[in-house]
This record gives sequence, structure tokens and C-alpha cells, in this order.
Amino acid sequence: MMAEETEIREKENFIEKEIDKDLKAQVYGREIKTRFPPEPNGYLHIGHAKSICLNFTLAKKYGGKCNLRFDDTNPVKEDTEYVDSIMEDVKWLGFEWADLCYASDYFDKMYECAVTLIKKGLAFVDDLNAEQIREYRGTLTEPGKESPYRNRSIEENLQLFEEMREGKYADGEKVLRAKIDMSSPNMNMRDPVIYRIAHADHHRTGSKWCVYPMYDFAHPIEDAIENITHSVCTMEFEDHRPLYEWVLRETGWVEPPRQIEFARLNVTNTLMSKRYLKKLVDDGVVESWDDPRMPTVSGMRRRGYTPESLRDFCERIGVAKANSLVDVALLENCIRTDLQDKVESRNVILDPLKVVITNYPEGQTEECDIENNKNVPEMGTRKVPFSRELYVEREDFMEVPVKKYFRLFPGNEVRFKGAYFIKCNEVIKDEAGNVTELRCSYDPETRSGSGFEGRKVKGTIHWVDAATAVPVTVRHFDYLKIDDGTGNEIMNPDTMTVYENAMAEPALGDSQPGSRYQFFRHGYYIEDTKLSKPDAKVFNQIVGLKSSWKPKN
Ligand code: ATP
Ligand code: MG
Repeated sequence: MMAEETEIREKENFIEKEIDKDLKAQVYGREIKTRFPPEPNGYLHIGHAKSICLNFTLAKKYGGKCNLRFDDTNPVKEDTEYVDSIMEDVKWLGFEWADLCYASDYFDKMYECAVTLIKKGLAFVDDLNAEQIREYRGTLTEPGKESPYRNRSIEENLQLFEEMREGKYADGEKVLRAKIDMSSPNMNMRDPVIYRIAHADHHRTGSKWCVYPMYDFAHPIEDAIENITHSVCTMEFEDHRPLYEWVLRETGWVEPPRQIEFARLNVTNTLMSKRYLKKLVDDGVVESWDDPRMPTVSGMRRRGYTPESLRDFCERIGVAKANSLVDVALLENCIRTDLQDKVESRNVILDPLKVVITNYPEGQTEECDIENNKNVPEMGTRKVPFSRELYVEREDFMEVPVKKYFRLFPGNEVRFKGAYFIKCNEVIKDEAGNVTELRCSYDPETRSGSGFEGRKVKGTIHWVDAATAVPVTVRHFDYLKIDDGTGNEIMNPDTMTVYENAMAEPALGDSQPGSRYQFFRHGYYIEDTKLSKPDAKVFNQIVGLKSSWKPKN
């Protein structure tokens, strides 16, 4: 385990190699600086976690800094609720930002840069509307056409841009465009729009501005203002890099930041876009952004993922330029690996079936010692009460057993984990024919730990004592997206199973919201932090016990 981990960390990713080159060539006379720049228009998801781990880990590795910057240049979709959740998530993942920045703090400087471009004859105010601009833009195979407003004088442009800022024009009536090259093979260089009018209140600047910079213009300036050296972003911005560099060159920054792109994270069975995740919340498909089914950082936190497991996952998937789809089983394996030696085991019966041990004395209770974690003997044992009436899983009984069924059926004997050998003698049913109770007998000679070797049984099942059991609610989840059978992923209509009548051993009654356990034979669970009450506890399944994930090679 340790060897493998060290091995992963010693391998340099391609971004580190690029930074090494820049250091060697002494490109920057300042410390290495990265940033994580979310737009506060939704909650962070596991894809963002990859970017967070990457940016903060790079800064740490090179003894530099990483900023958290809210890229809040679009007033309409942004909200302080999102700002707060993003800060909470980054901290929870275990990272500390150097400066907390807001792109909106730089609006004055950005405006100034736009004026600089106008004065250099490199930007103009255009009266074409959005549709016309699109038409004039050309296609990948045809060059675009220059706007009829492209040759306005510098004086006119300065005046019109000032008037745009003053609020003289309606949304969309005018835009400011960079004057670059309408026949460039790179569409992003065909006189891109760099400022637009939006008469909308901004969550931080209020009504101060009615012109807002476009992402491609704002982002390089944000990076430059913060002295970022390496601006790491996802592959879809590769074609924007020439524009990123153009903006920095023409607005005159020394030792400008350098953009490096890497592949987005995609995970099987997982929706990964704020826009779609927001729709799930808005449509009520899930309860909230932090619903345990959501691949948001807050959803995964509530589901029971640990920061360690998410950082481990981001380390394992690595950083590359080629897009890839990561198996969700790898993610699940990371949380299993993290929890297996950390959490205690508890017995919980999800779907209880009553068992009466007819030869066990009425009114008697004894305590069985059950190990807290079979991998870690130092975690000790706990006392679990055993008496005449117990619950077992309904699925641990079959009236007519199928082949190789070693659990309870009439006439069969099994081991009740940590207690005795128990034999099923009689099946009690209600009028409708449903099994309501099993009458069983125990063999006092077979007590666990007594060294009994008289005979062997093939099945071991878990149980809880009926008199002291704590009723709890247990929730199991399925993926939001599933394969439709033809290799396409579709939305899963059935993503939650609730066990409302689950019965737990008394020790689980002392659990606290946020506490994690292994439920024997069922998987890893966490007490829900939102819905659980002291006298009505709710547990979420984090992940089942079995892994379908197999390491390559
Ligand atoms: P979405 O498409 O889900 O809305 P976004 O890219 O619009 O995401 P931003 O808030 O702009 O979200 O992203 C902040 C940072 O996180 C960006 O640098 C972006 O490249 C990175 N990021 C977003 N999604 C992923 C992903 N799936 N994998 C890796 N990095 C991502
Ligand atoms: Mg975005």
C-alpha cells in the first residue's frame, strides 16, 4: 500500500514537467502561483475536486501559493450561497488558499485594459446584434466577414464604450470587440466580444456596473493581477489559449501567466456538469445540492466520503491531456480503502424477520463479545446482547432453499456470528402465507470462543437482539445514470431504497450524526447529518462491501 502510494507521488505529471522547464529557463522572477477559479453559479462537483487537488498540490510542491478566486463576471447566475458552499468544500477537502479573490474586484482594472486596447486601435464598439455577429463569424472552413463598424475611430470607440458604461444602451445593443483577424483559422480570434452590456445587479458590485467583461478577456487579466504563473484549466480552453496570450500581450503584462490545459474528469454513471446538477435540484429529482446521490463535494460529504478518499481518488486518476472516462468503481474503492481499517462494525438488520430460540431461557440475556474491526484487533471488542428473541435478515431465510444456499431453511443449522449455532425448526406464517417468525433452537455447547469443534456449519449470519434493538432508517442509493443496455447512459428512475424498519444493535444508539461504521455484511454507512434525530436515526450507505473494481495490468 505505502509503496504504491509513494510510487504514484514520485511520478511527475506533464504539468509538473512544464513547470520544471519554466523554472530551469527562469521564466518567472517570482514564486510559482496557481489558482482555483470557480464561477459561483452552483456547487462544486467531483470534477472540480480534481482541479482543486491539482492546483493546490502544484503550489505546495513548488513552495508557492494557490488562490481561491471566484470568477464572478456573470451577474445573472451567481449567488453568495454558492460562494459560501465553495469555500466550505475547498476547506473540507483539506486545502488552504493564499488569497481569497473575486474577479469582480478587478472590474476597474479590466475596464482600464479595455480602454488601453481601444487606444491601441485593437478594440471597437460594434452595433451588430448577437445573431448578426454569429453570421459574420464564418465557419471552420470559411473566413468571417468584418463588421461594418470595425473601422470606427479611436475617439468614437472611446466615447461609445464610455456611454455603454454609463448605461445609455440596452442589453445587447452594443458590444466591445477585440480587433484581431476575421479570417483566422481559430474562430476565437475572429474579433471576439470582450465586453457586453447587462443591466443586472451583481451579487457583490450591486448596480455599479452595467457592462461586464467576457470570460476570455477577463480570465487572463485576473490571472495576471494575481501574479499567477501557471493557469491550469481544462482542455476545452486549448483553442482559447492564443486569445489568452493576445490579451496579456496587448494589455502589457511582464512575465505573463502561462495557460496549461488538462483533461476534464468524467466518471461512469455520474452526471458532471453544474448546469445539469442544478436542473436535478430545480426539478426535485434530488432533494438538494447536498443530496447523498449527488456527485457534488457536499453530496459526497453527506454520503460519507472522506476528504482523504477524494484526494486519494484524484491522485490515482492522474493528470493527462487525453480525455478519459473513469470507472466509478475506482472512486468507491478509494472510500472502502480509507474506511476499512478505521471504522467499527455494527450489526444492523435492514429487513427484520423474527427468530425465537425456543430452548433459550425466557428472561435471560447474555453478552457476546464481537470484534469491532476484524482487520484491526487493537480496535477491541464490544458487548452485544443475545436473548431468546432476535431479528435476522429476511433474505437470510428461504423456505425452499436454492442450490448452495447455506443460510437458514427448515432443518438447517447456521452460525449466528459471535453467538451460537442455531437450527431452524419451524416456520410461522400469517393468514396471507407470509413468513412472520422462525422457531429455532440453539446448542449451548457451540458458544463462540468456547473452542467447540464438534461439527461445522457452512453459513454464518448476523442478528440483533429484539428486546434491546434500536429501530433505525437506512437508505441505499443507486447511480443517477445507468446503462440502458445498449451502452448509452440514461437517467436512472429509481435511485433510492429506504429501509424504514431496520433494527440495529444497541451500540448504534450512541452514534452521532456524521459517524461512520461498517454494517456487518452490508457495507459502509454514515449517520446522516441532516435528517437524523437522536430518537429516529437515519443512516446512508456510503458504499457496499464488494468491489467490482480491478486494477489494470
Ligand atoms: P461545469 O461544466 O460543471 O459547469 P465549469 O467548468 O463551468 O464546470 P467552473 O466553475 O468554471 O465550472 O470551474 C472551475 C474550475 O474547475 C475550472 O478551472 C474548470 O476547468 C475546473 N473543472 C470543472 N469541471 C471539471 C472536471 N470535470 N474535471 C476537471 N476540472 C474541472
Ligand atoms: Mg463555467
